[in-house]
Amino acid sequence: MAERKQELEALRDELIDRFERYKAHKEQRDGPLDKDMEDQSIELQNDEVVEALQQEAEDELRQVMHALKRIDEGEGDVCEQCDEPIDARRLKAVPYTTVCRECAELG
Ligand SMILES: [Zn+2]
Repeated sequence: MAERKQELEALRDELIDRFERYKAHKEQRDGPLDKDMEDQSIELQNDEVVEALQQEAEDELRQVMHALKRIDEGEGDVCEQCDEPIDARRLKAVPYTTVCRECAELG
């Protein structure tokens, strides 16, 4: 499963990069407001989108880190809920998953 680990590490780096960009974007936006009201309302909408994207990146990053930890512990391809092996095709499709299809569907 070395290949999956490499894939996850690349994904992790990409997510950290994305997260930092959103963060930088927001910090920039928190600067002095020197535009007219119309621009500000557009910025506000953008901020909400960025906020949502940042949250999404953070959630995904947490999931990736968790999967990497499982791989390091030698349990990367075992479902953390029922201890059954996770289907290889599922791992390929969703490399950061830590549960089997059945458990994922049960929620
Ligand atoms: Zn399971």
